[in-house]
Amino acid sequence: MTNAPRLLDKLVSMTAIHDVELMEFSLLKTLVEFVRPQELMIIKLDRNGHPCYQLSLKHEQYEIIHDDICMPDEIMAAIELVRRTKQPFNRRLDPLRLLAVWNILQTKSQDVFLVTITANEIGKLDAYMINGLLGVYRNFFAVLHEAQRDQLTGLANRKTFDEVVNKIYFQLPPSTDPVPVERRADSPSRSRGFWVGMADLDNFKRINDSWGHLYGDEVLLLISQLMQGHFRESDYLFRFGGEEFVIIIRAAHEDQAEQAFERFRRAVEEHIFPQIGQVTISIGVAKMDASIFTATLLDHADKALYHAKKNGRNQVCFFEKLLRDGLVEESDIRTGEVELF
Ligand code: GH3
Ligand code: MG
Ligand code: MG
Repeated sequence: MTNAPRLLDKLVSMTAIHDVELMEFSLLKTLVEFVRPQELMIIKLDRNGHPCYQLSLKHEQYEIIHDDICMPDEIMAAIELVRRTKQPFNRRLDPLRLLAVWNILQTKSQDVFLVTITANEIGKLDAYMINGLLGVYRNFFAVLHEAQRDQLTGLANRKTFDEVVNKIYFQLPPSTDPVPVERRADSPSRSRGFWVGMADLDNFKRINDSWGHLYGDEVLLLISQLMQGHFRESDYLFRFGGEEFVIIIRAAHEDQAEQAFERFRRAVEEHIFPQIGQVTISIGVAKMDASIFTATLLDHADKALYHAKKNGRNQVCFFEKLLRDGLVEESDIRTGEVELF
């Protein structure tokens, strides 16, 4: 084990990370150094068994894919087998490539696997080390997951919001992008944007007052389940506190973002909550823009939410639309906490 001190160094740096995605990068980097595979991937399957996230490392290039993941049948079949047996599995794809799939972890919302492609059989010592590193990842994932989740609903908590926003900003084109908007629309990667929706239950106090807090909590839990069912796996869902939720979605156009939020609003309206019956939700939405501060973005979403509340509740309002119609004013908040609705 001449590599042991270096491996220990790697483990120390891996466990100093406080972000699941960064830890996954670090895991792949460590594995590359010690196992030297041709290709390495972390694949996540959603609740329906469809690939929803792929982090791959090939020829020293990292790539993250969320949508339209195209996985060869032979890899998908191996993942399916490992999903059922929870045991590692390997088979030769051709004389130069050996595929191996390792079970990392399975949670309520996703199953996570490691896929390695190597030229040679993976030796006993390497297999032992891979299993050990996956064990470290698993334990650490549980700790991070716990710290980043809201206890009642299991959604991400307020603390993780800024981190997610920063990650998204790295993917957004700068607002001073010189490419004309018309030309941008042809290119799927450029036409993508992110929208932040601030959702607040309508007259929730009345539910608590009439039925008690336990029923109120049950409504919050059911709302979070409706959210998980109606937004995509790659969207970000947060419970900001109380009966307020924040949703970040990716969409090509404002119309598409509107459809997504509207679909969720309708799902809440149409759901029959045990004992209580109908519950409704108001949502204020603002488009993300790397040139504005997060506090300003939240204030824009909050203004749209306030507008929705003042105009009868149970509706989705977009800040940019209200701005075009002269119904709200832009703000520029740089620091400090935003007072939410
Ligand atoms: P509006 O439509 O204007 O939003 O009316 P509202 O009654 O929902 O508004 P308000 O924000 O004044 O009240 C929110 C209430 O949500 C206050 C509190 O009783 C309740 N609440 C906040 N957090 C929790 C929680 O964790 N569990 C339960 N059961 N109730 C909560
Ligand atoms: Mg409310
Ligand atoms: Mg509220």
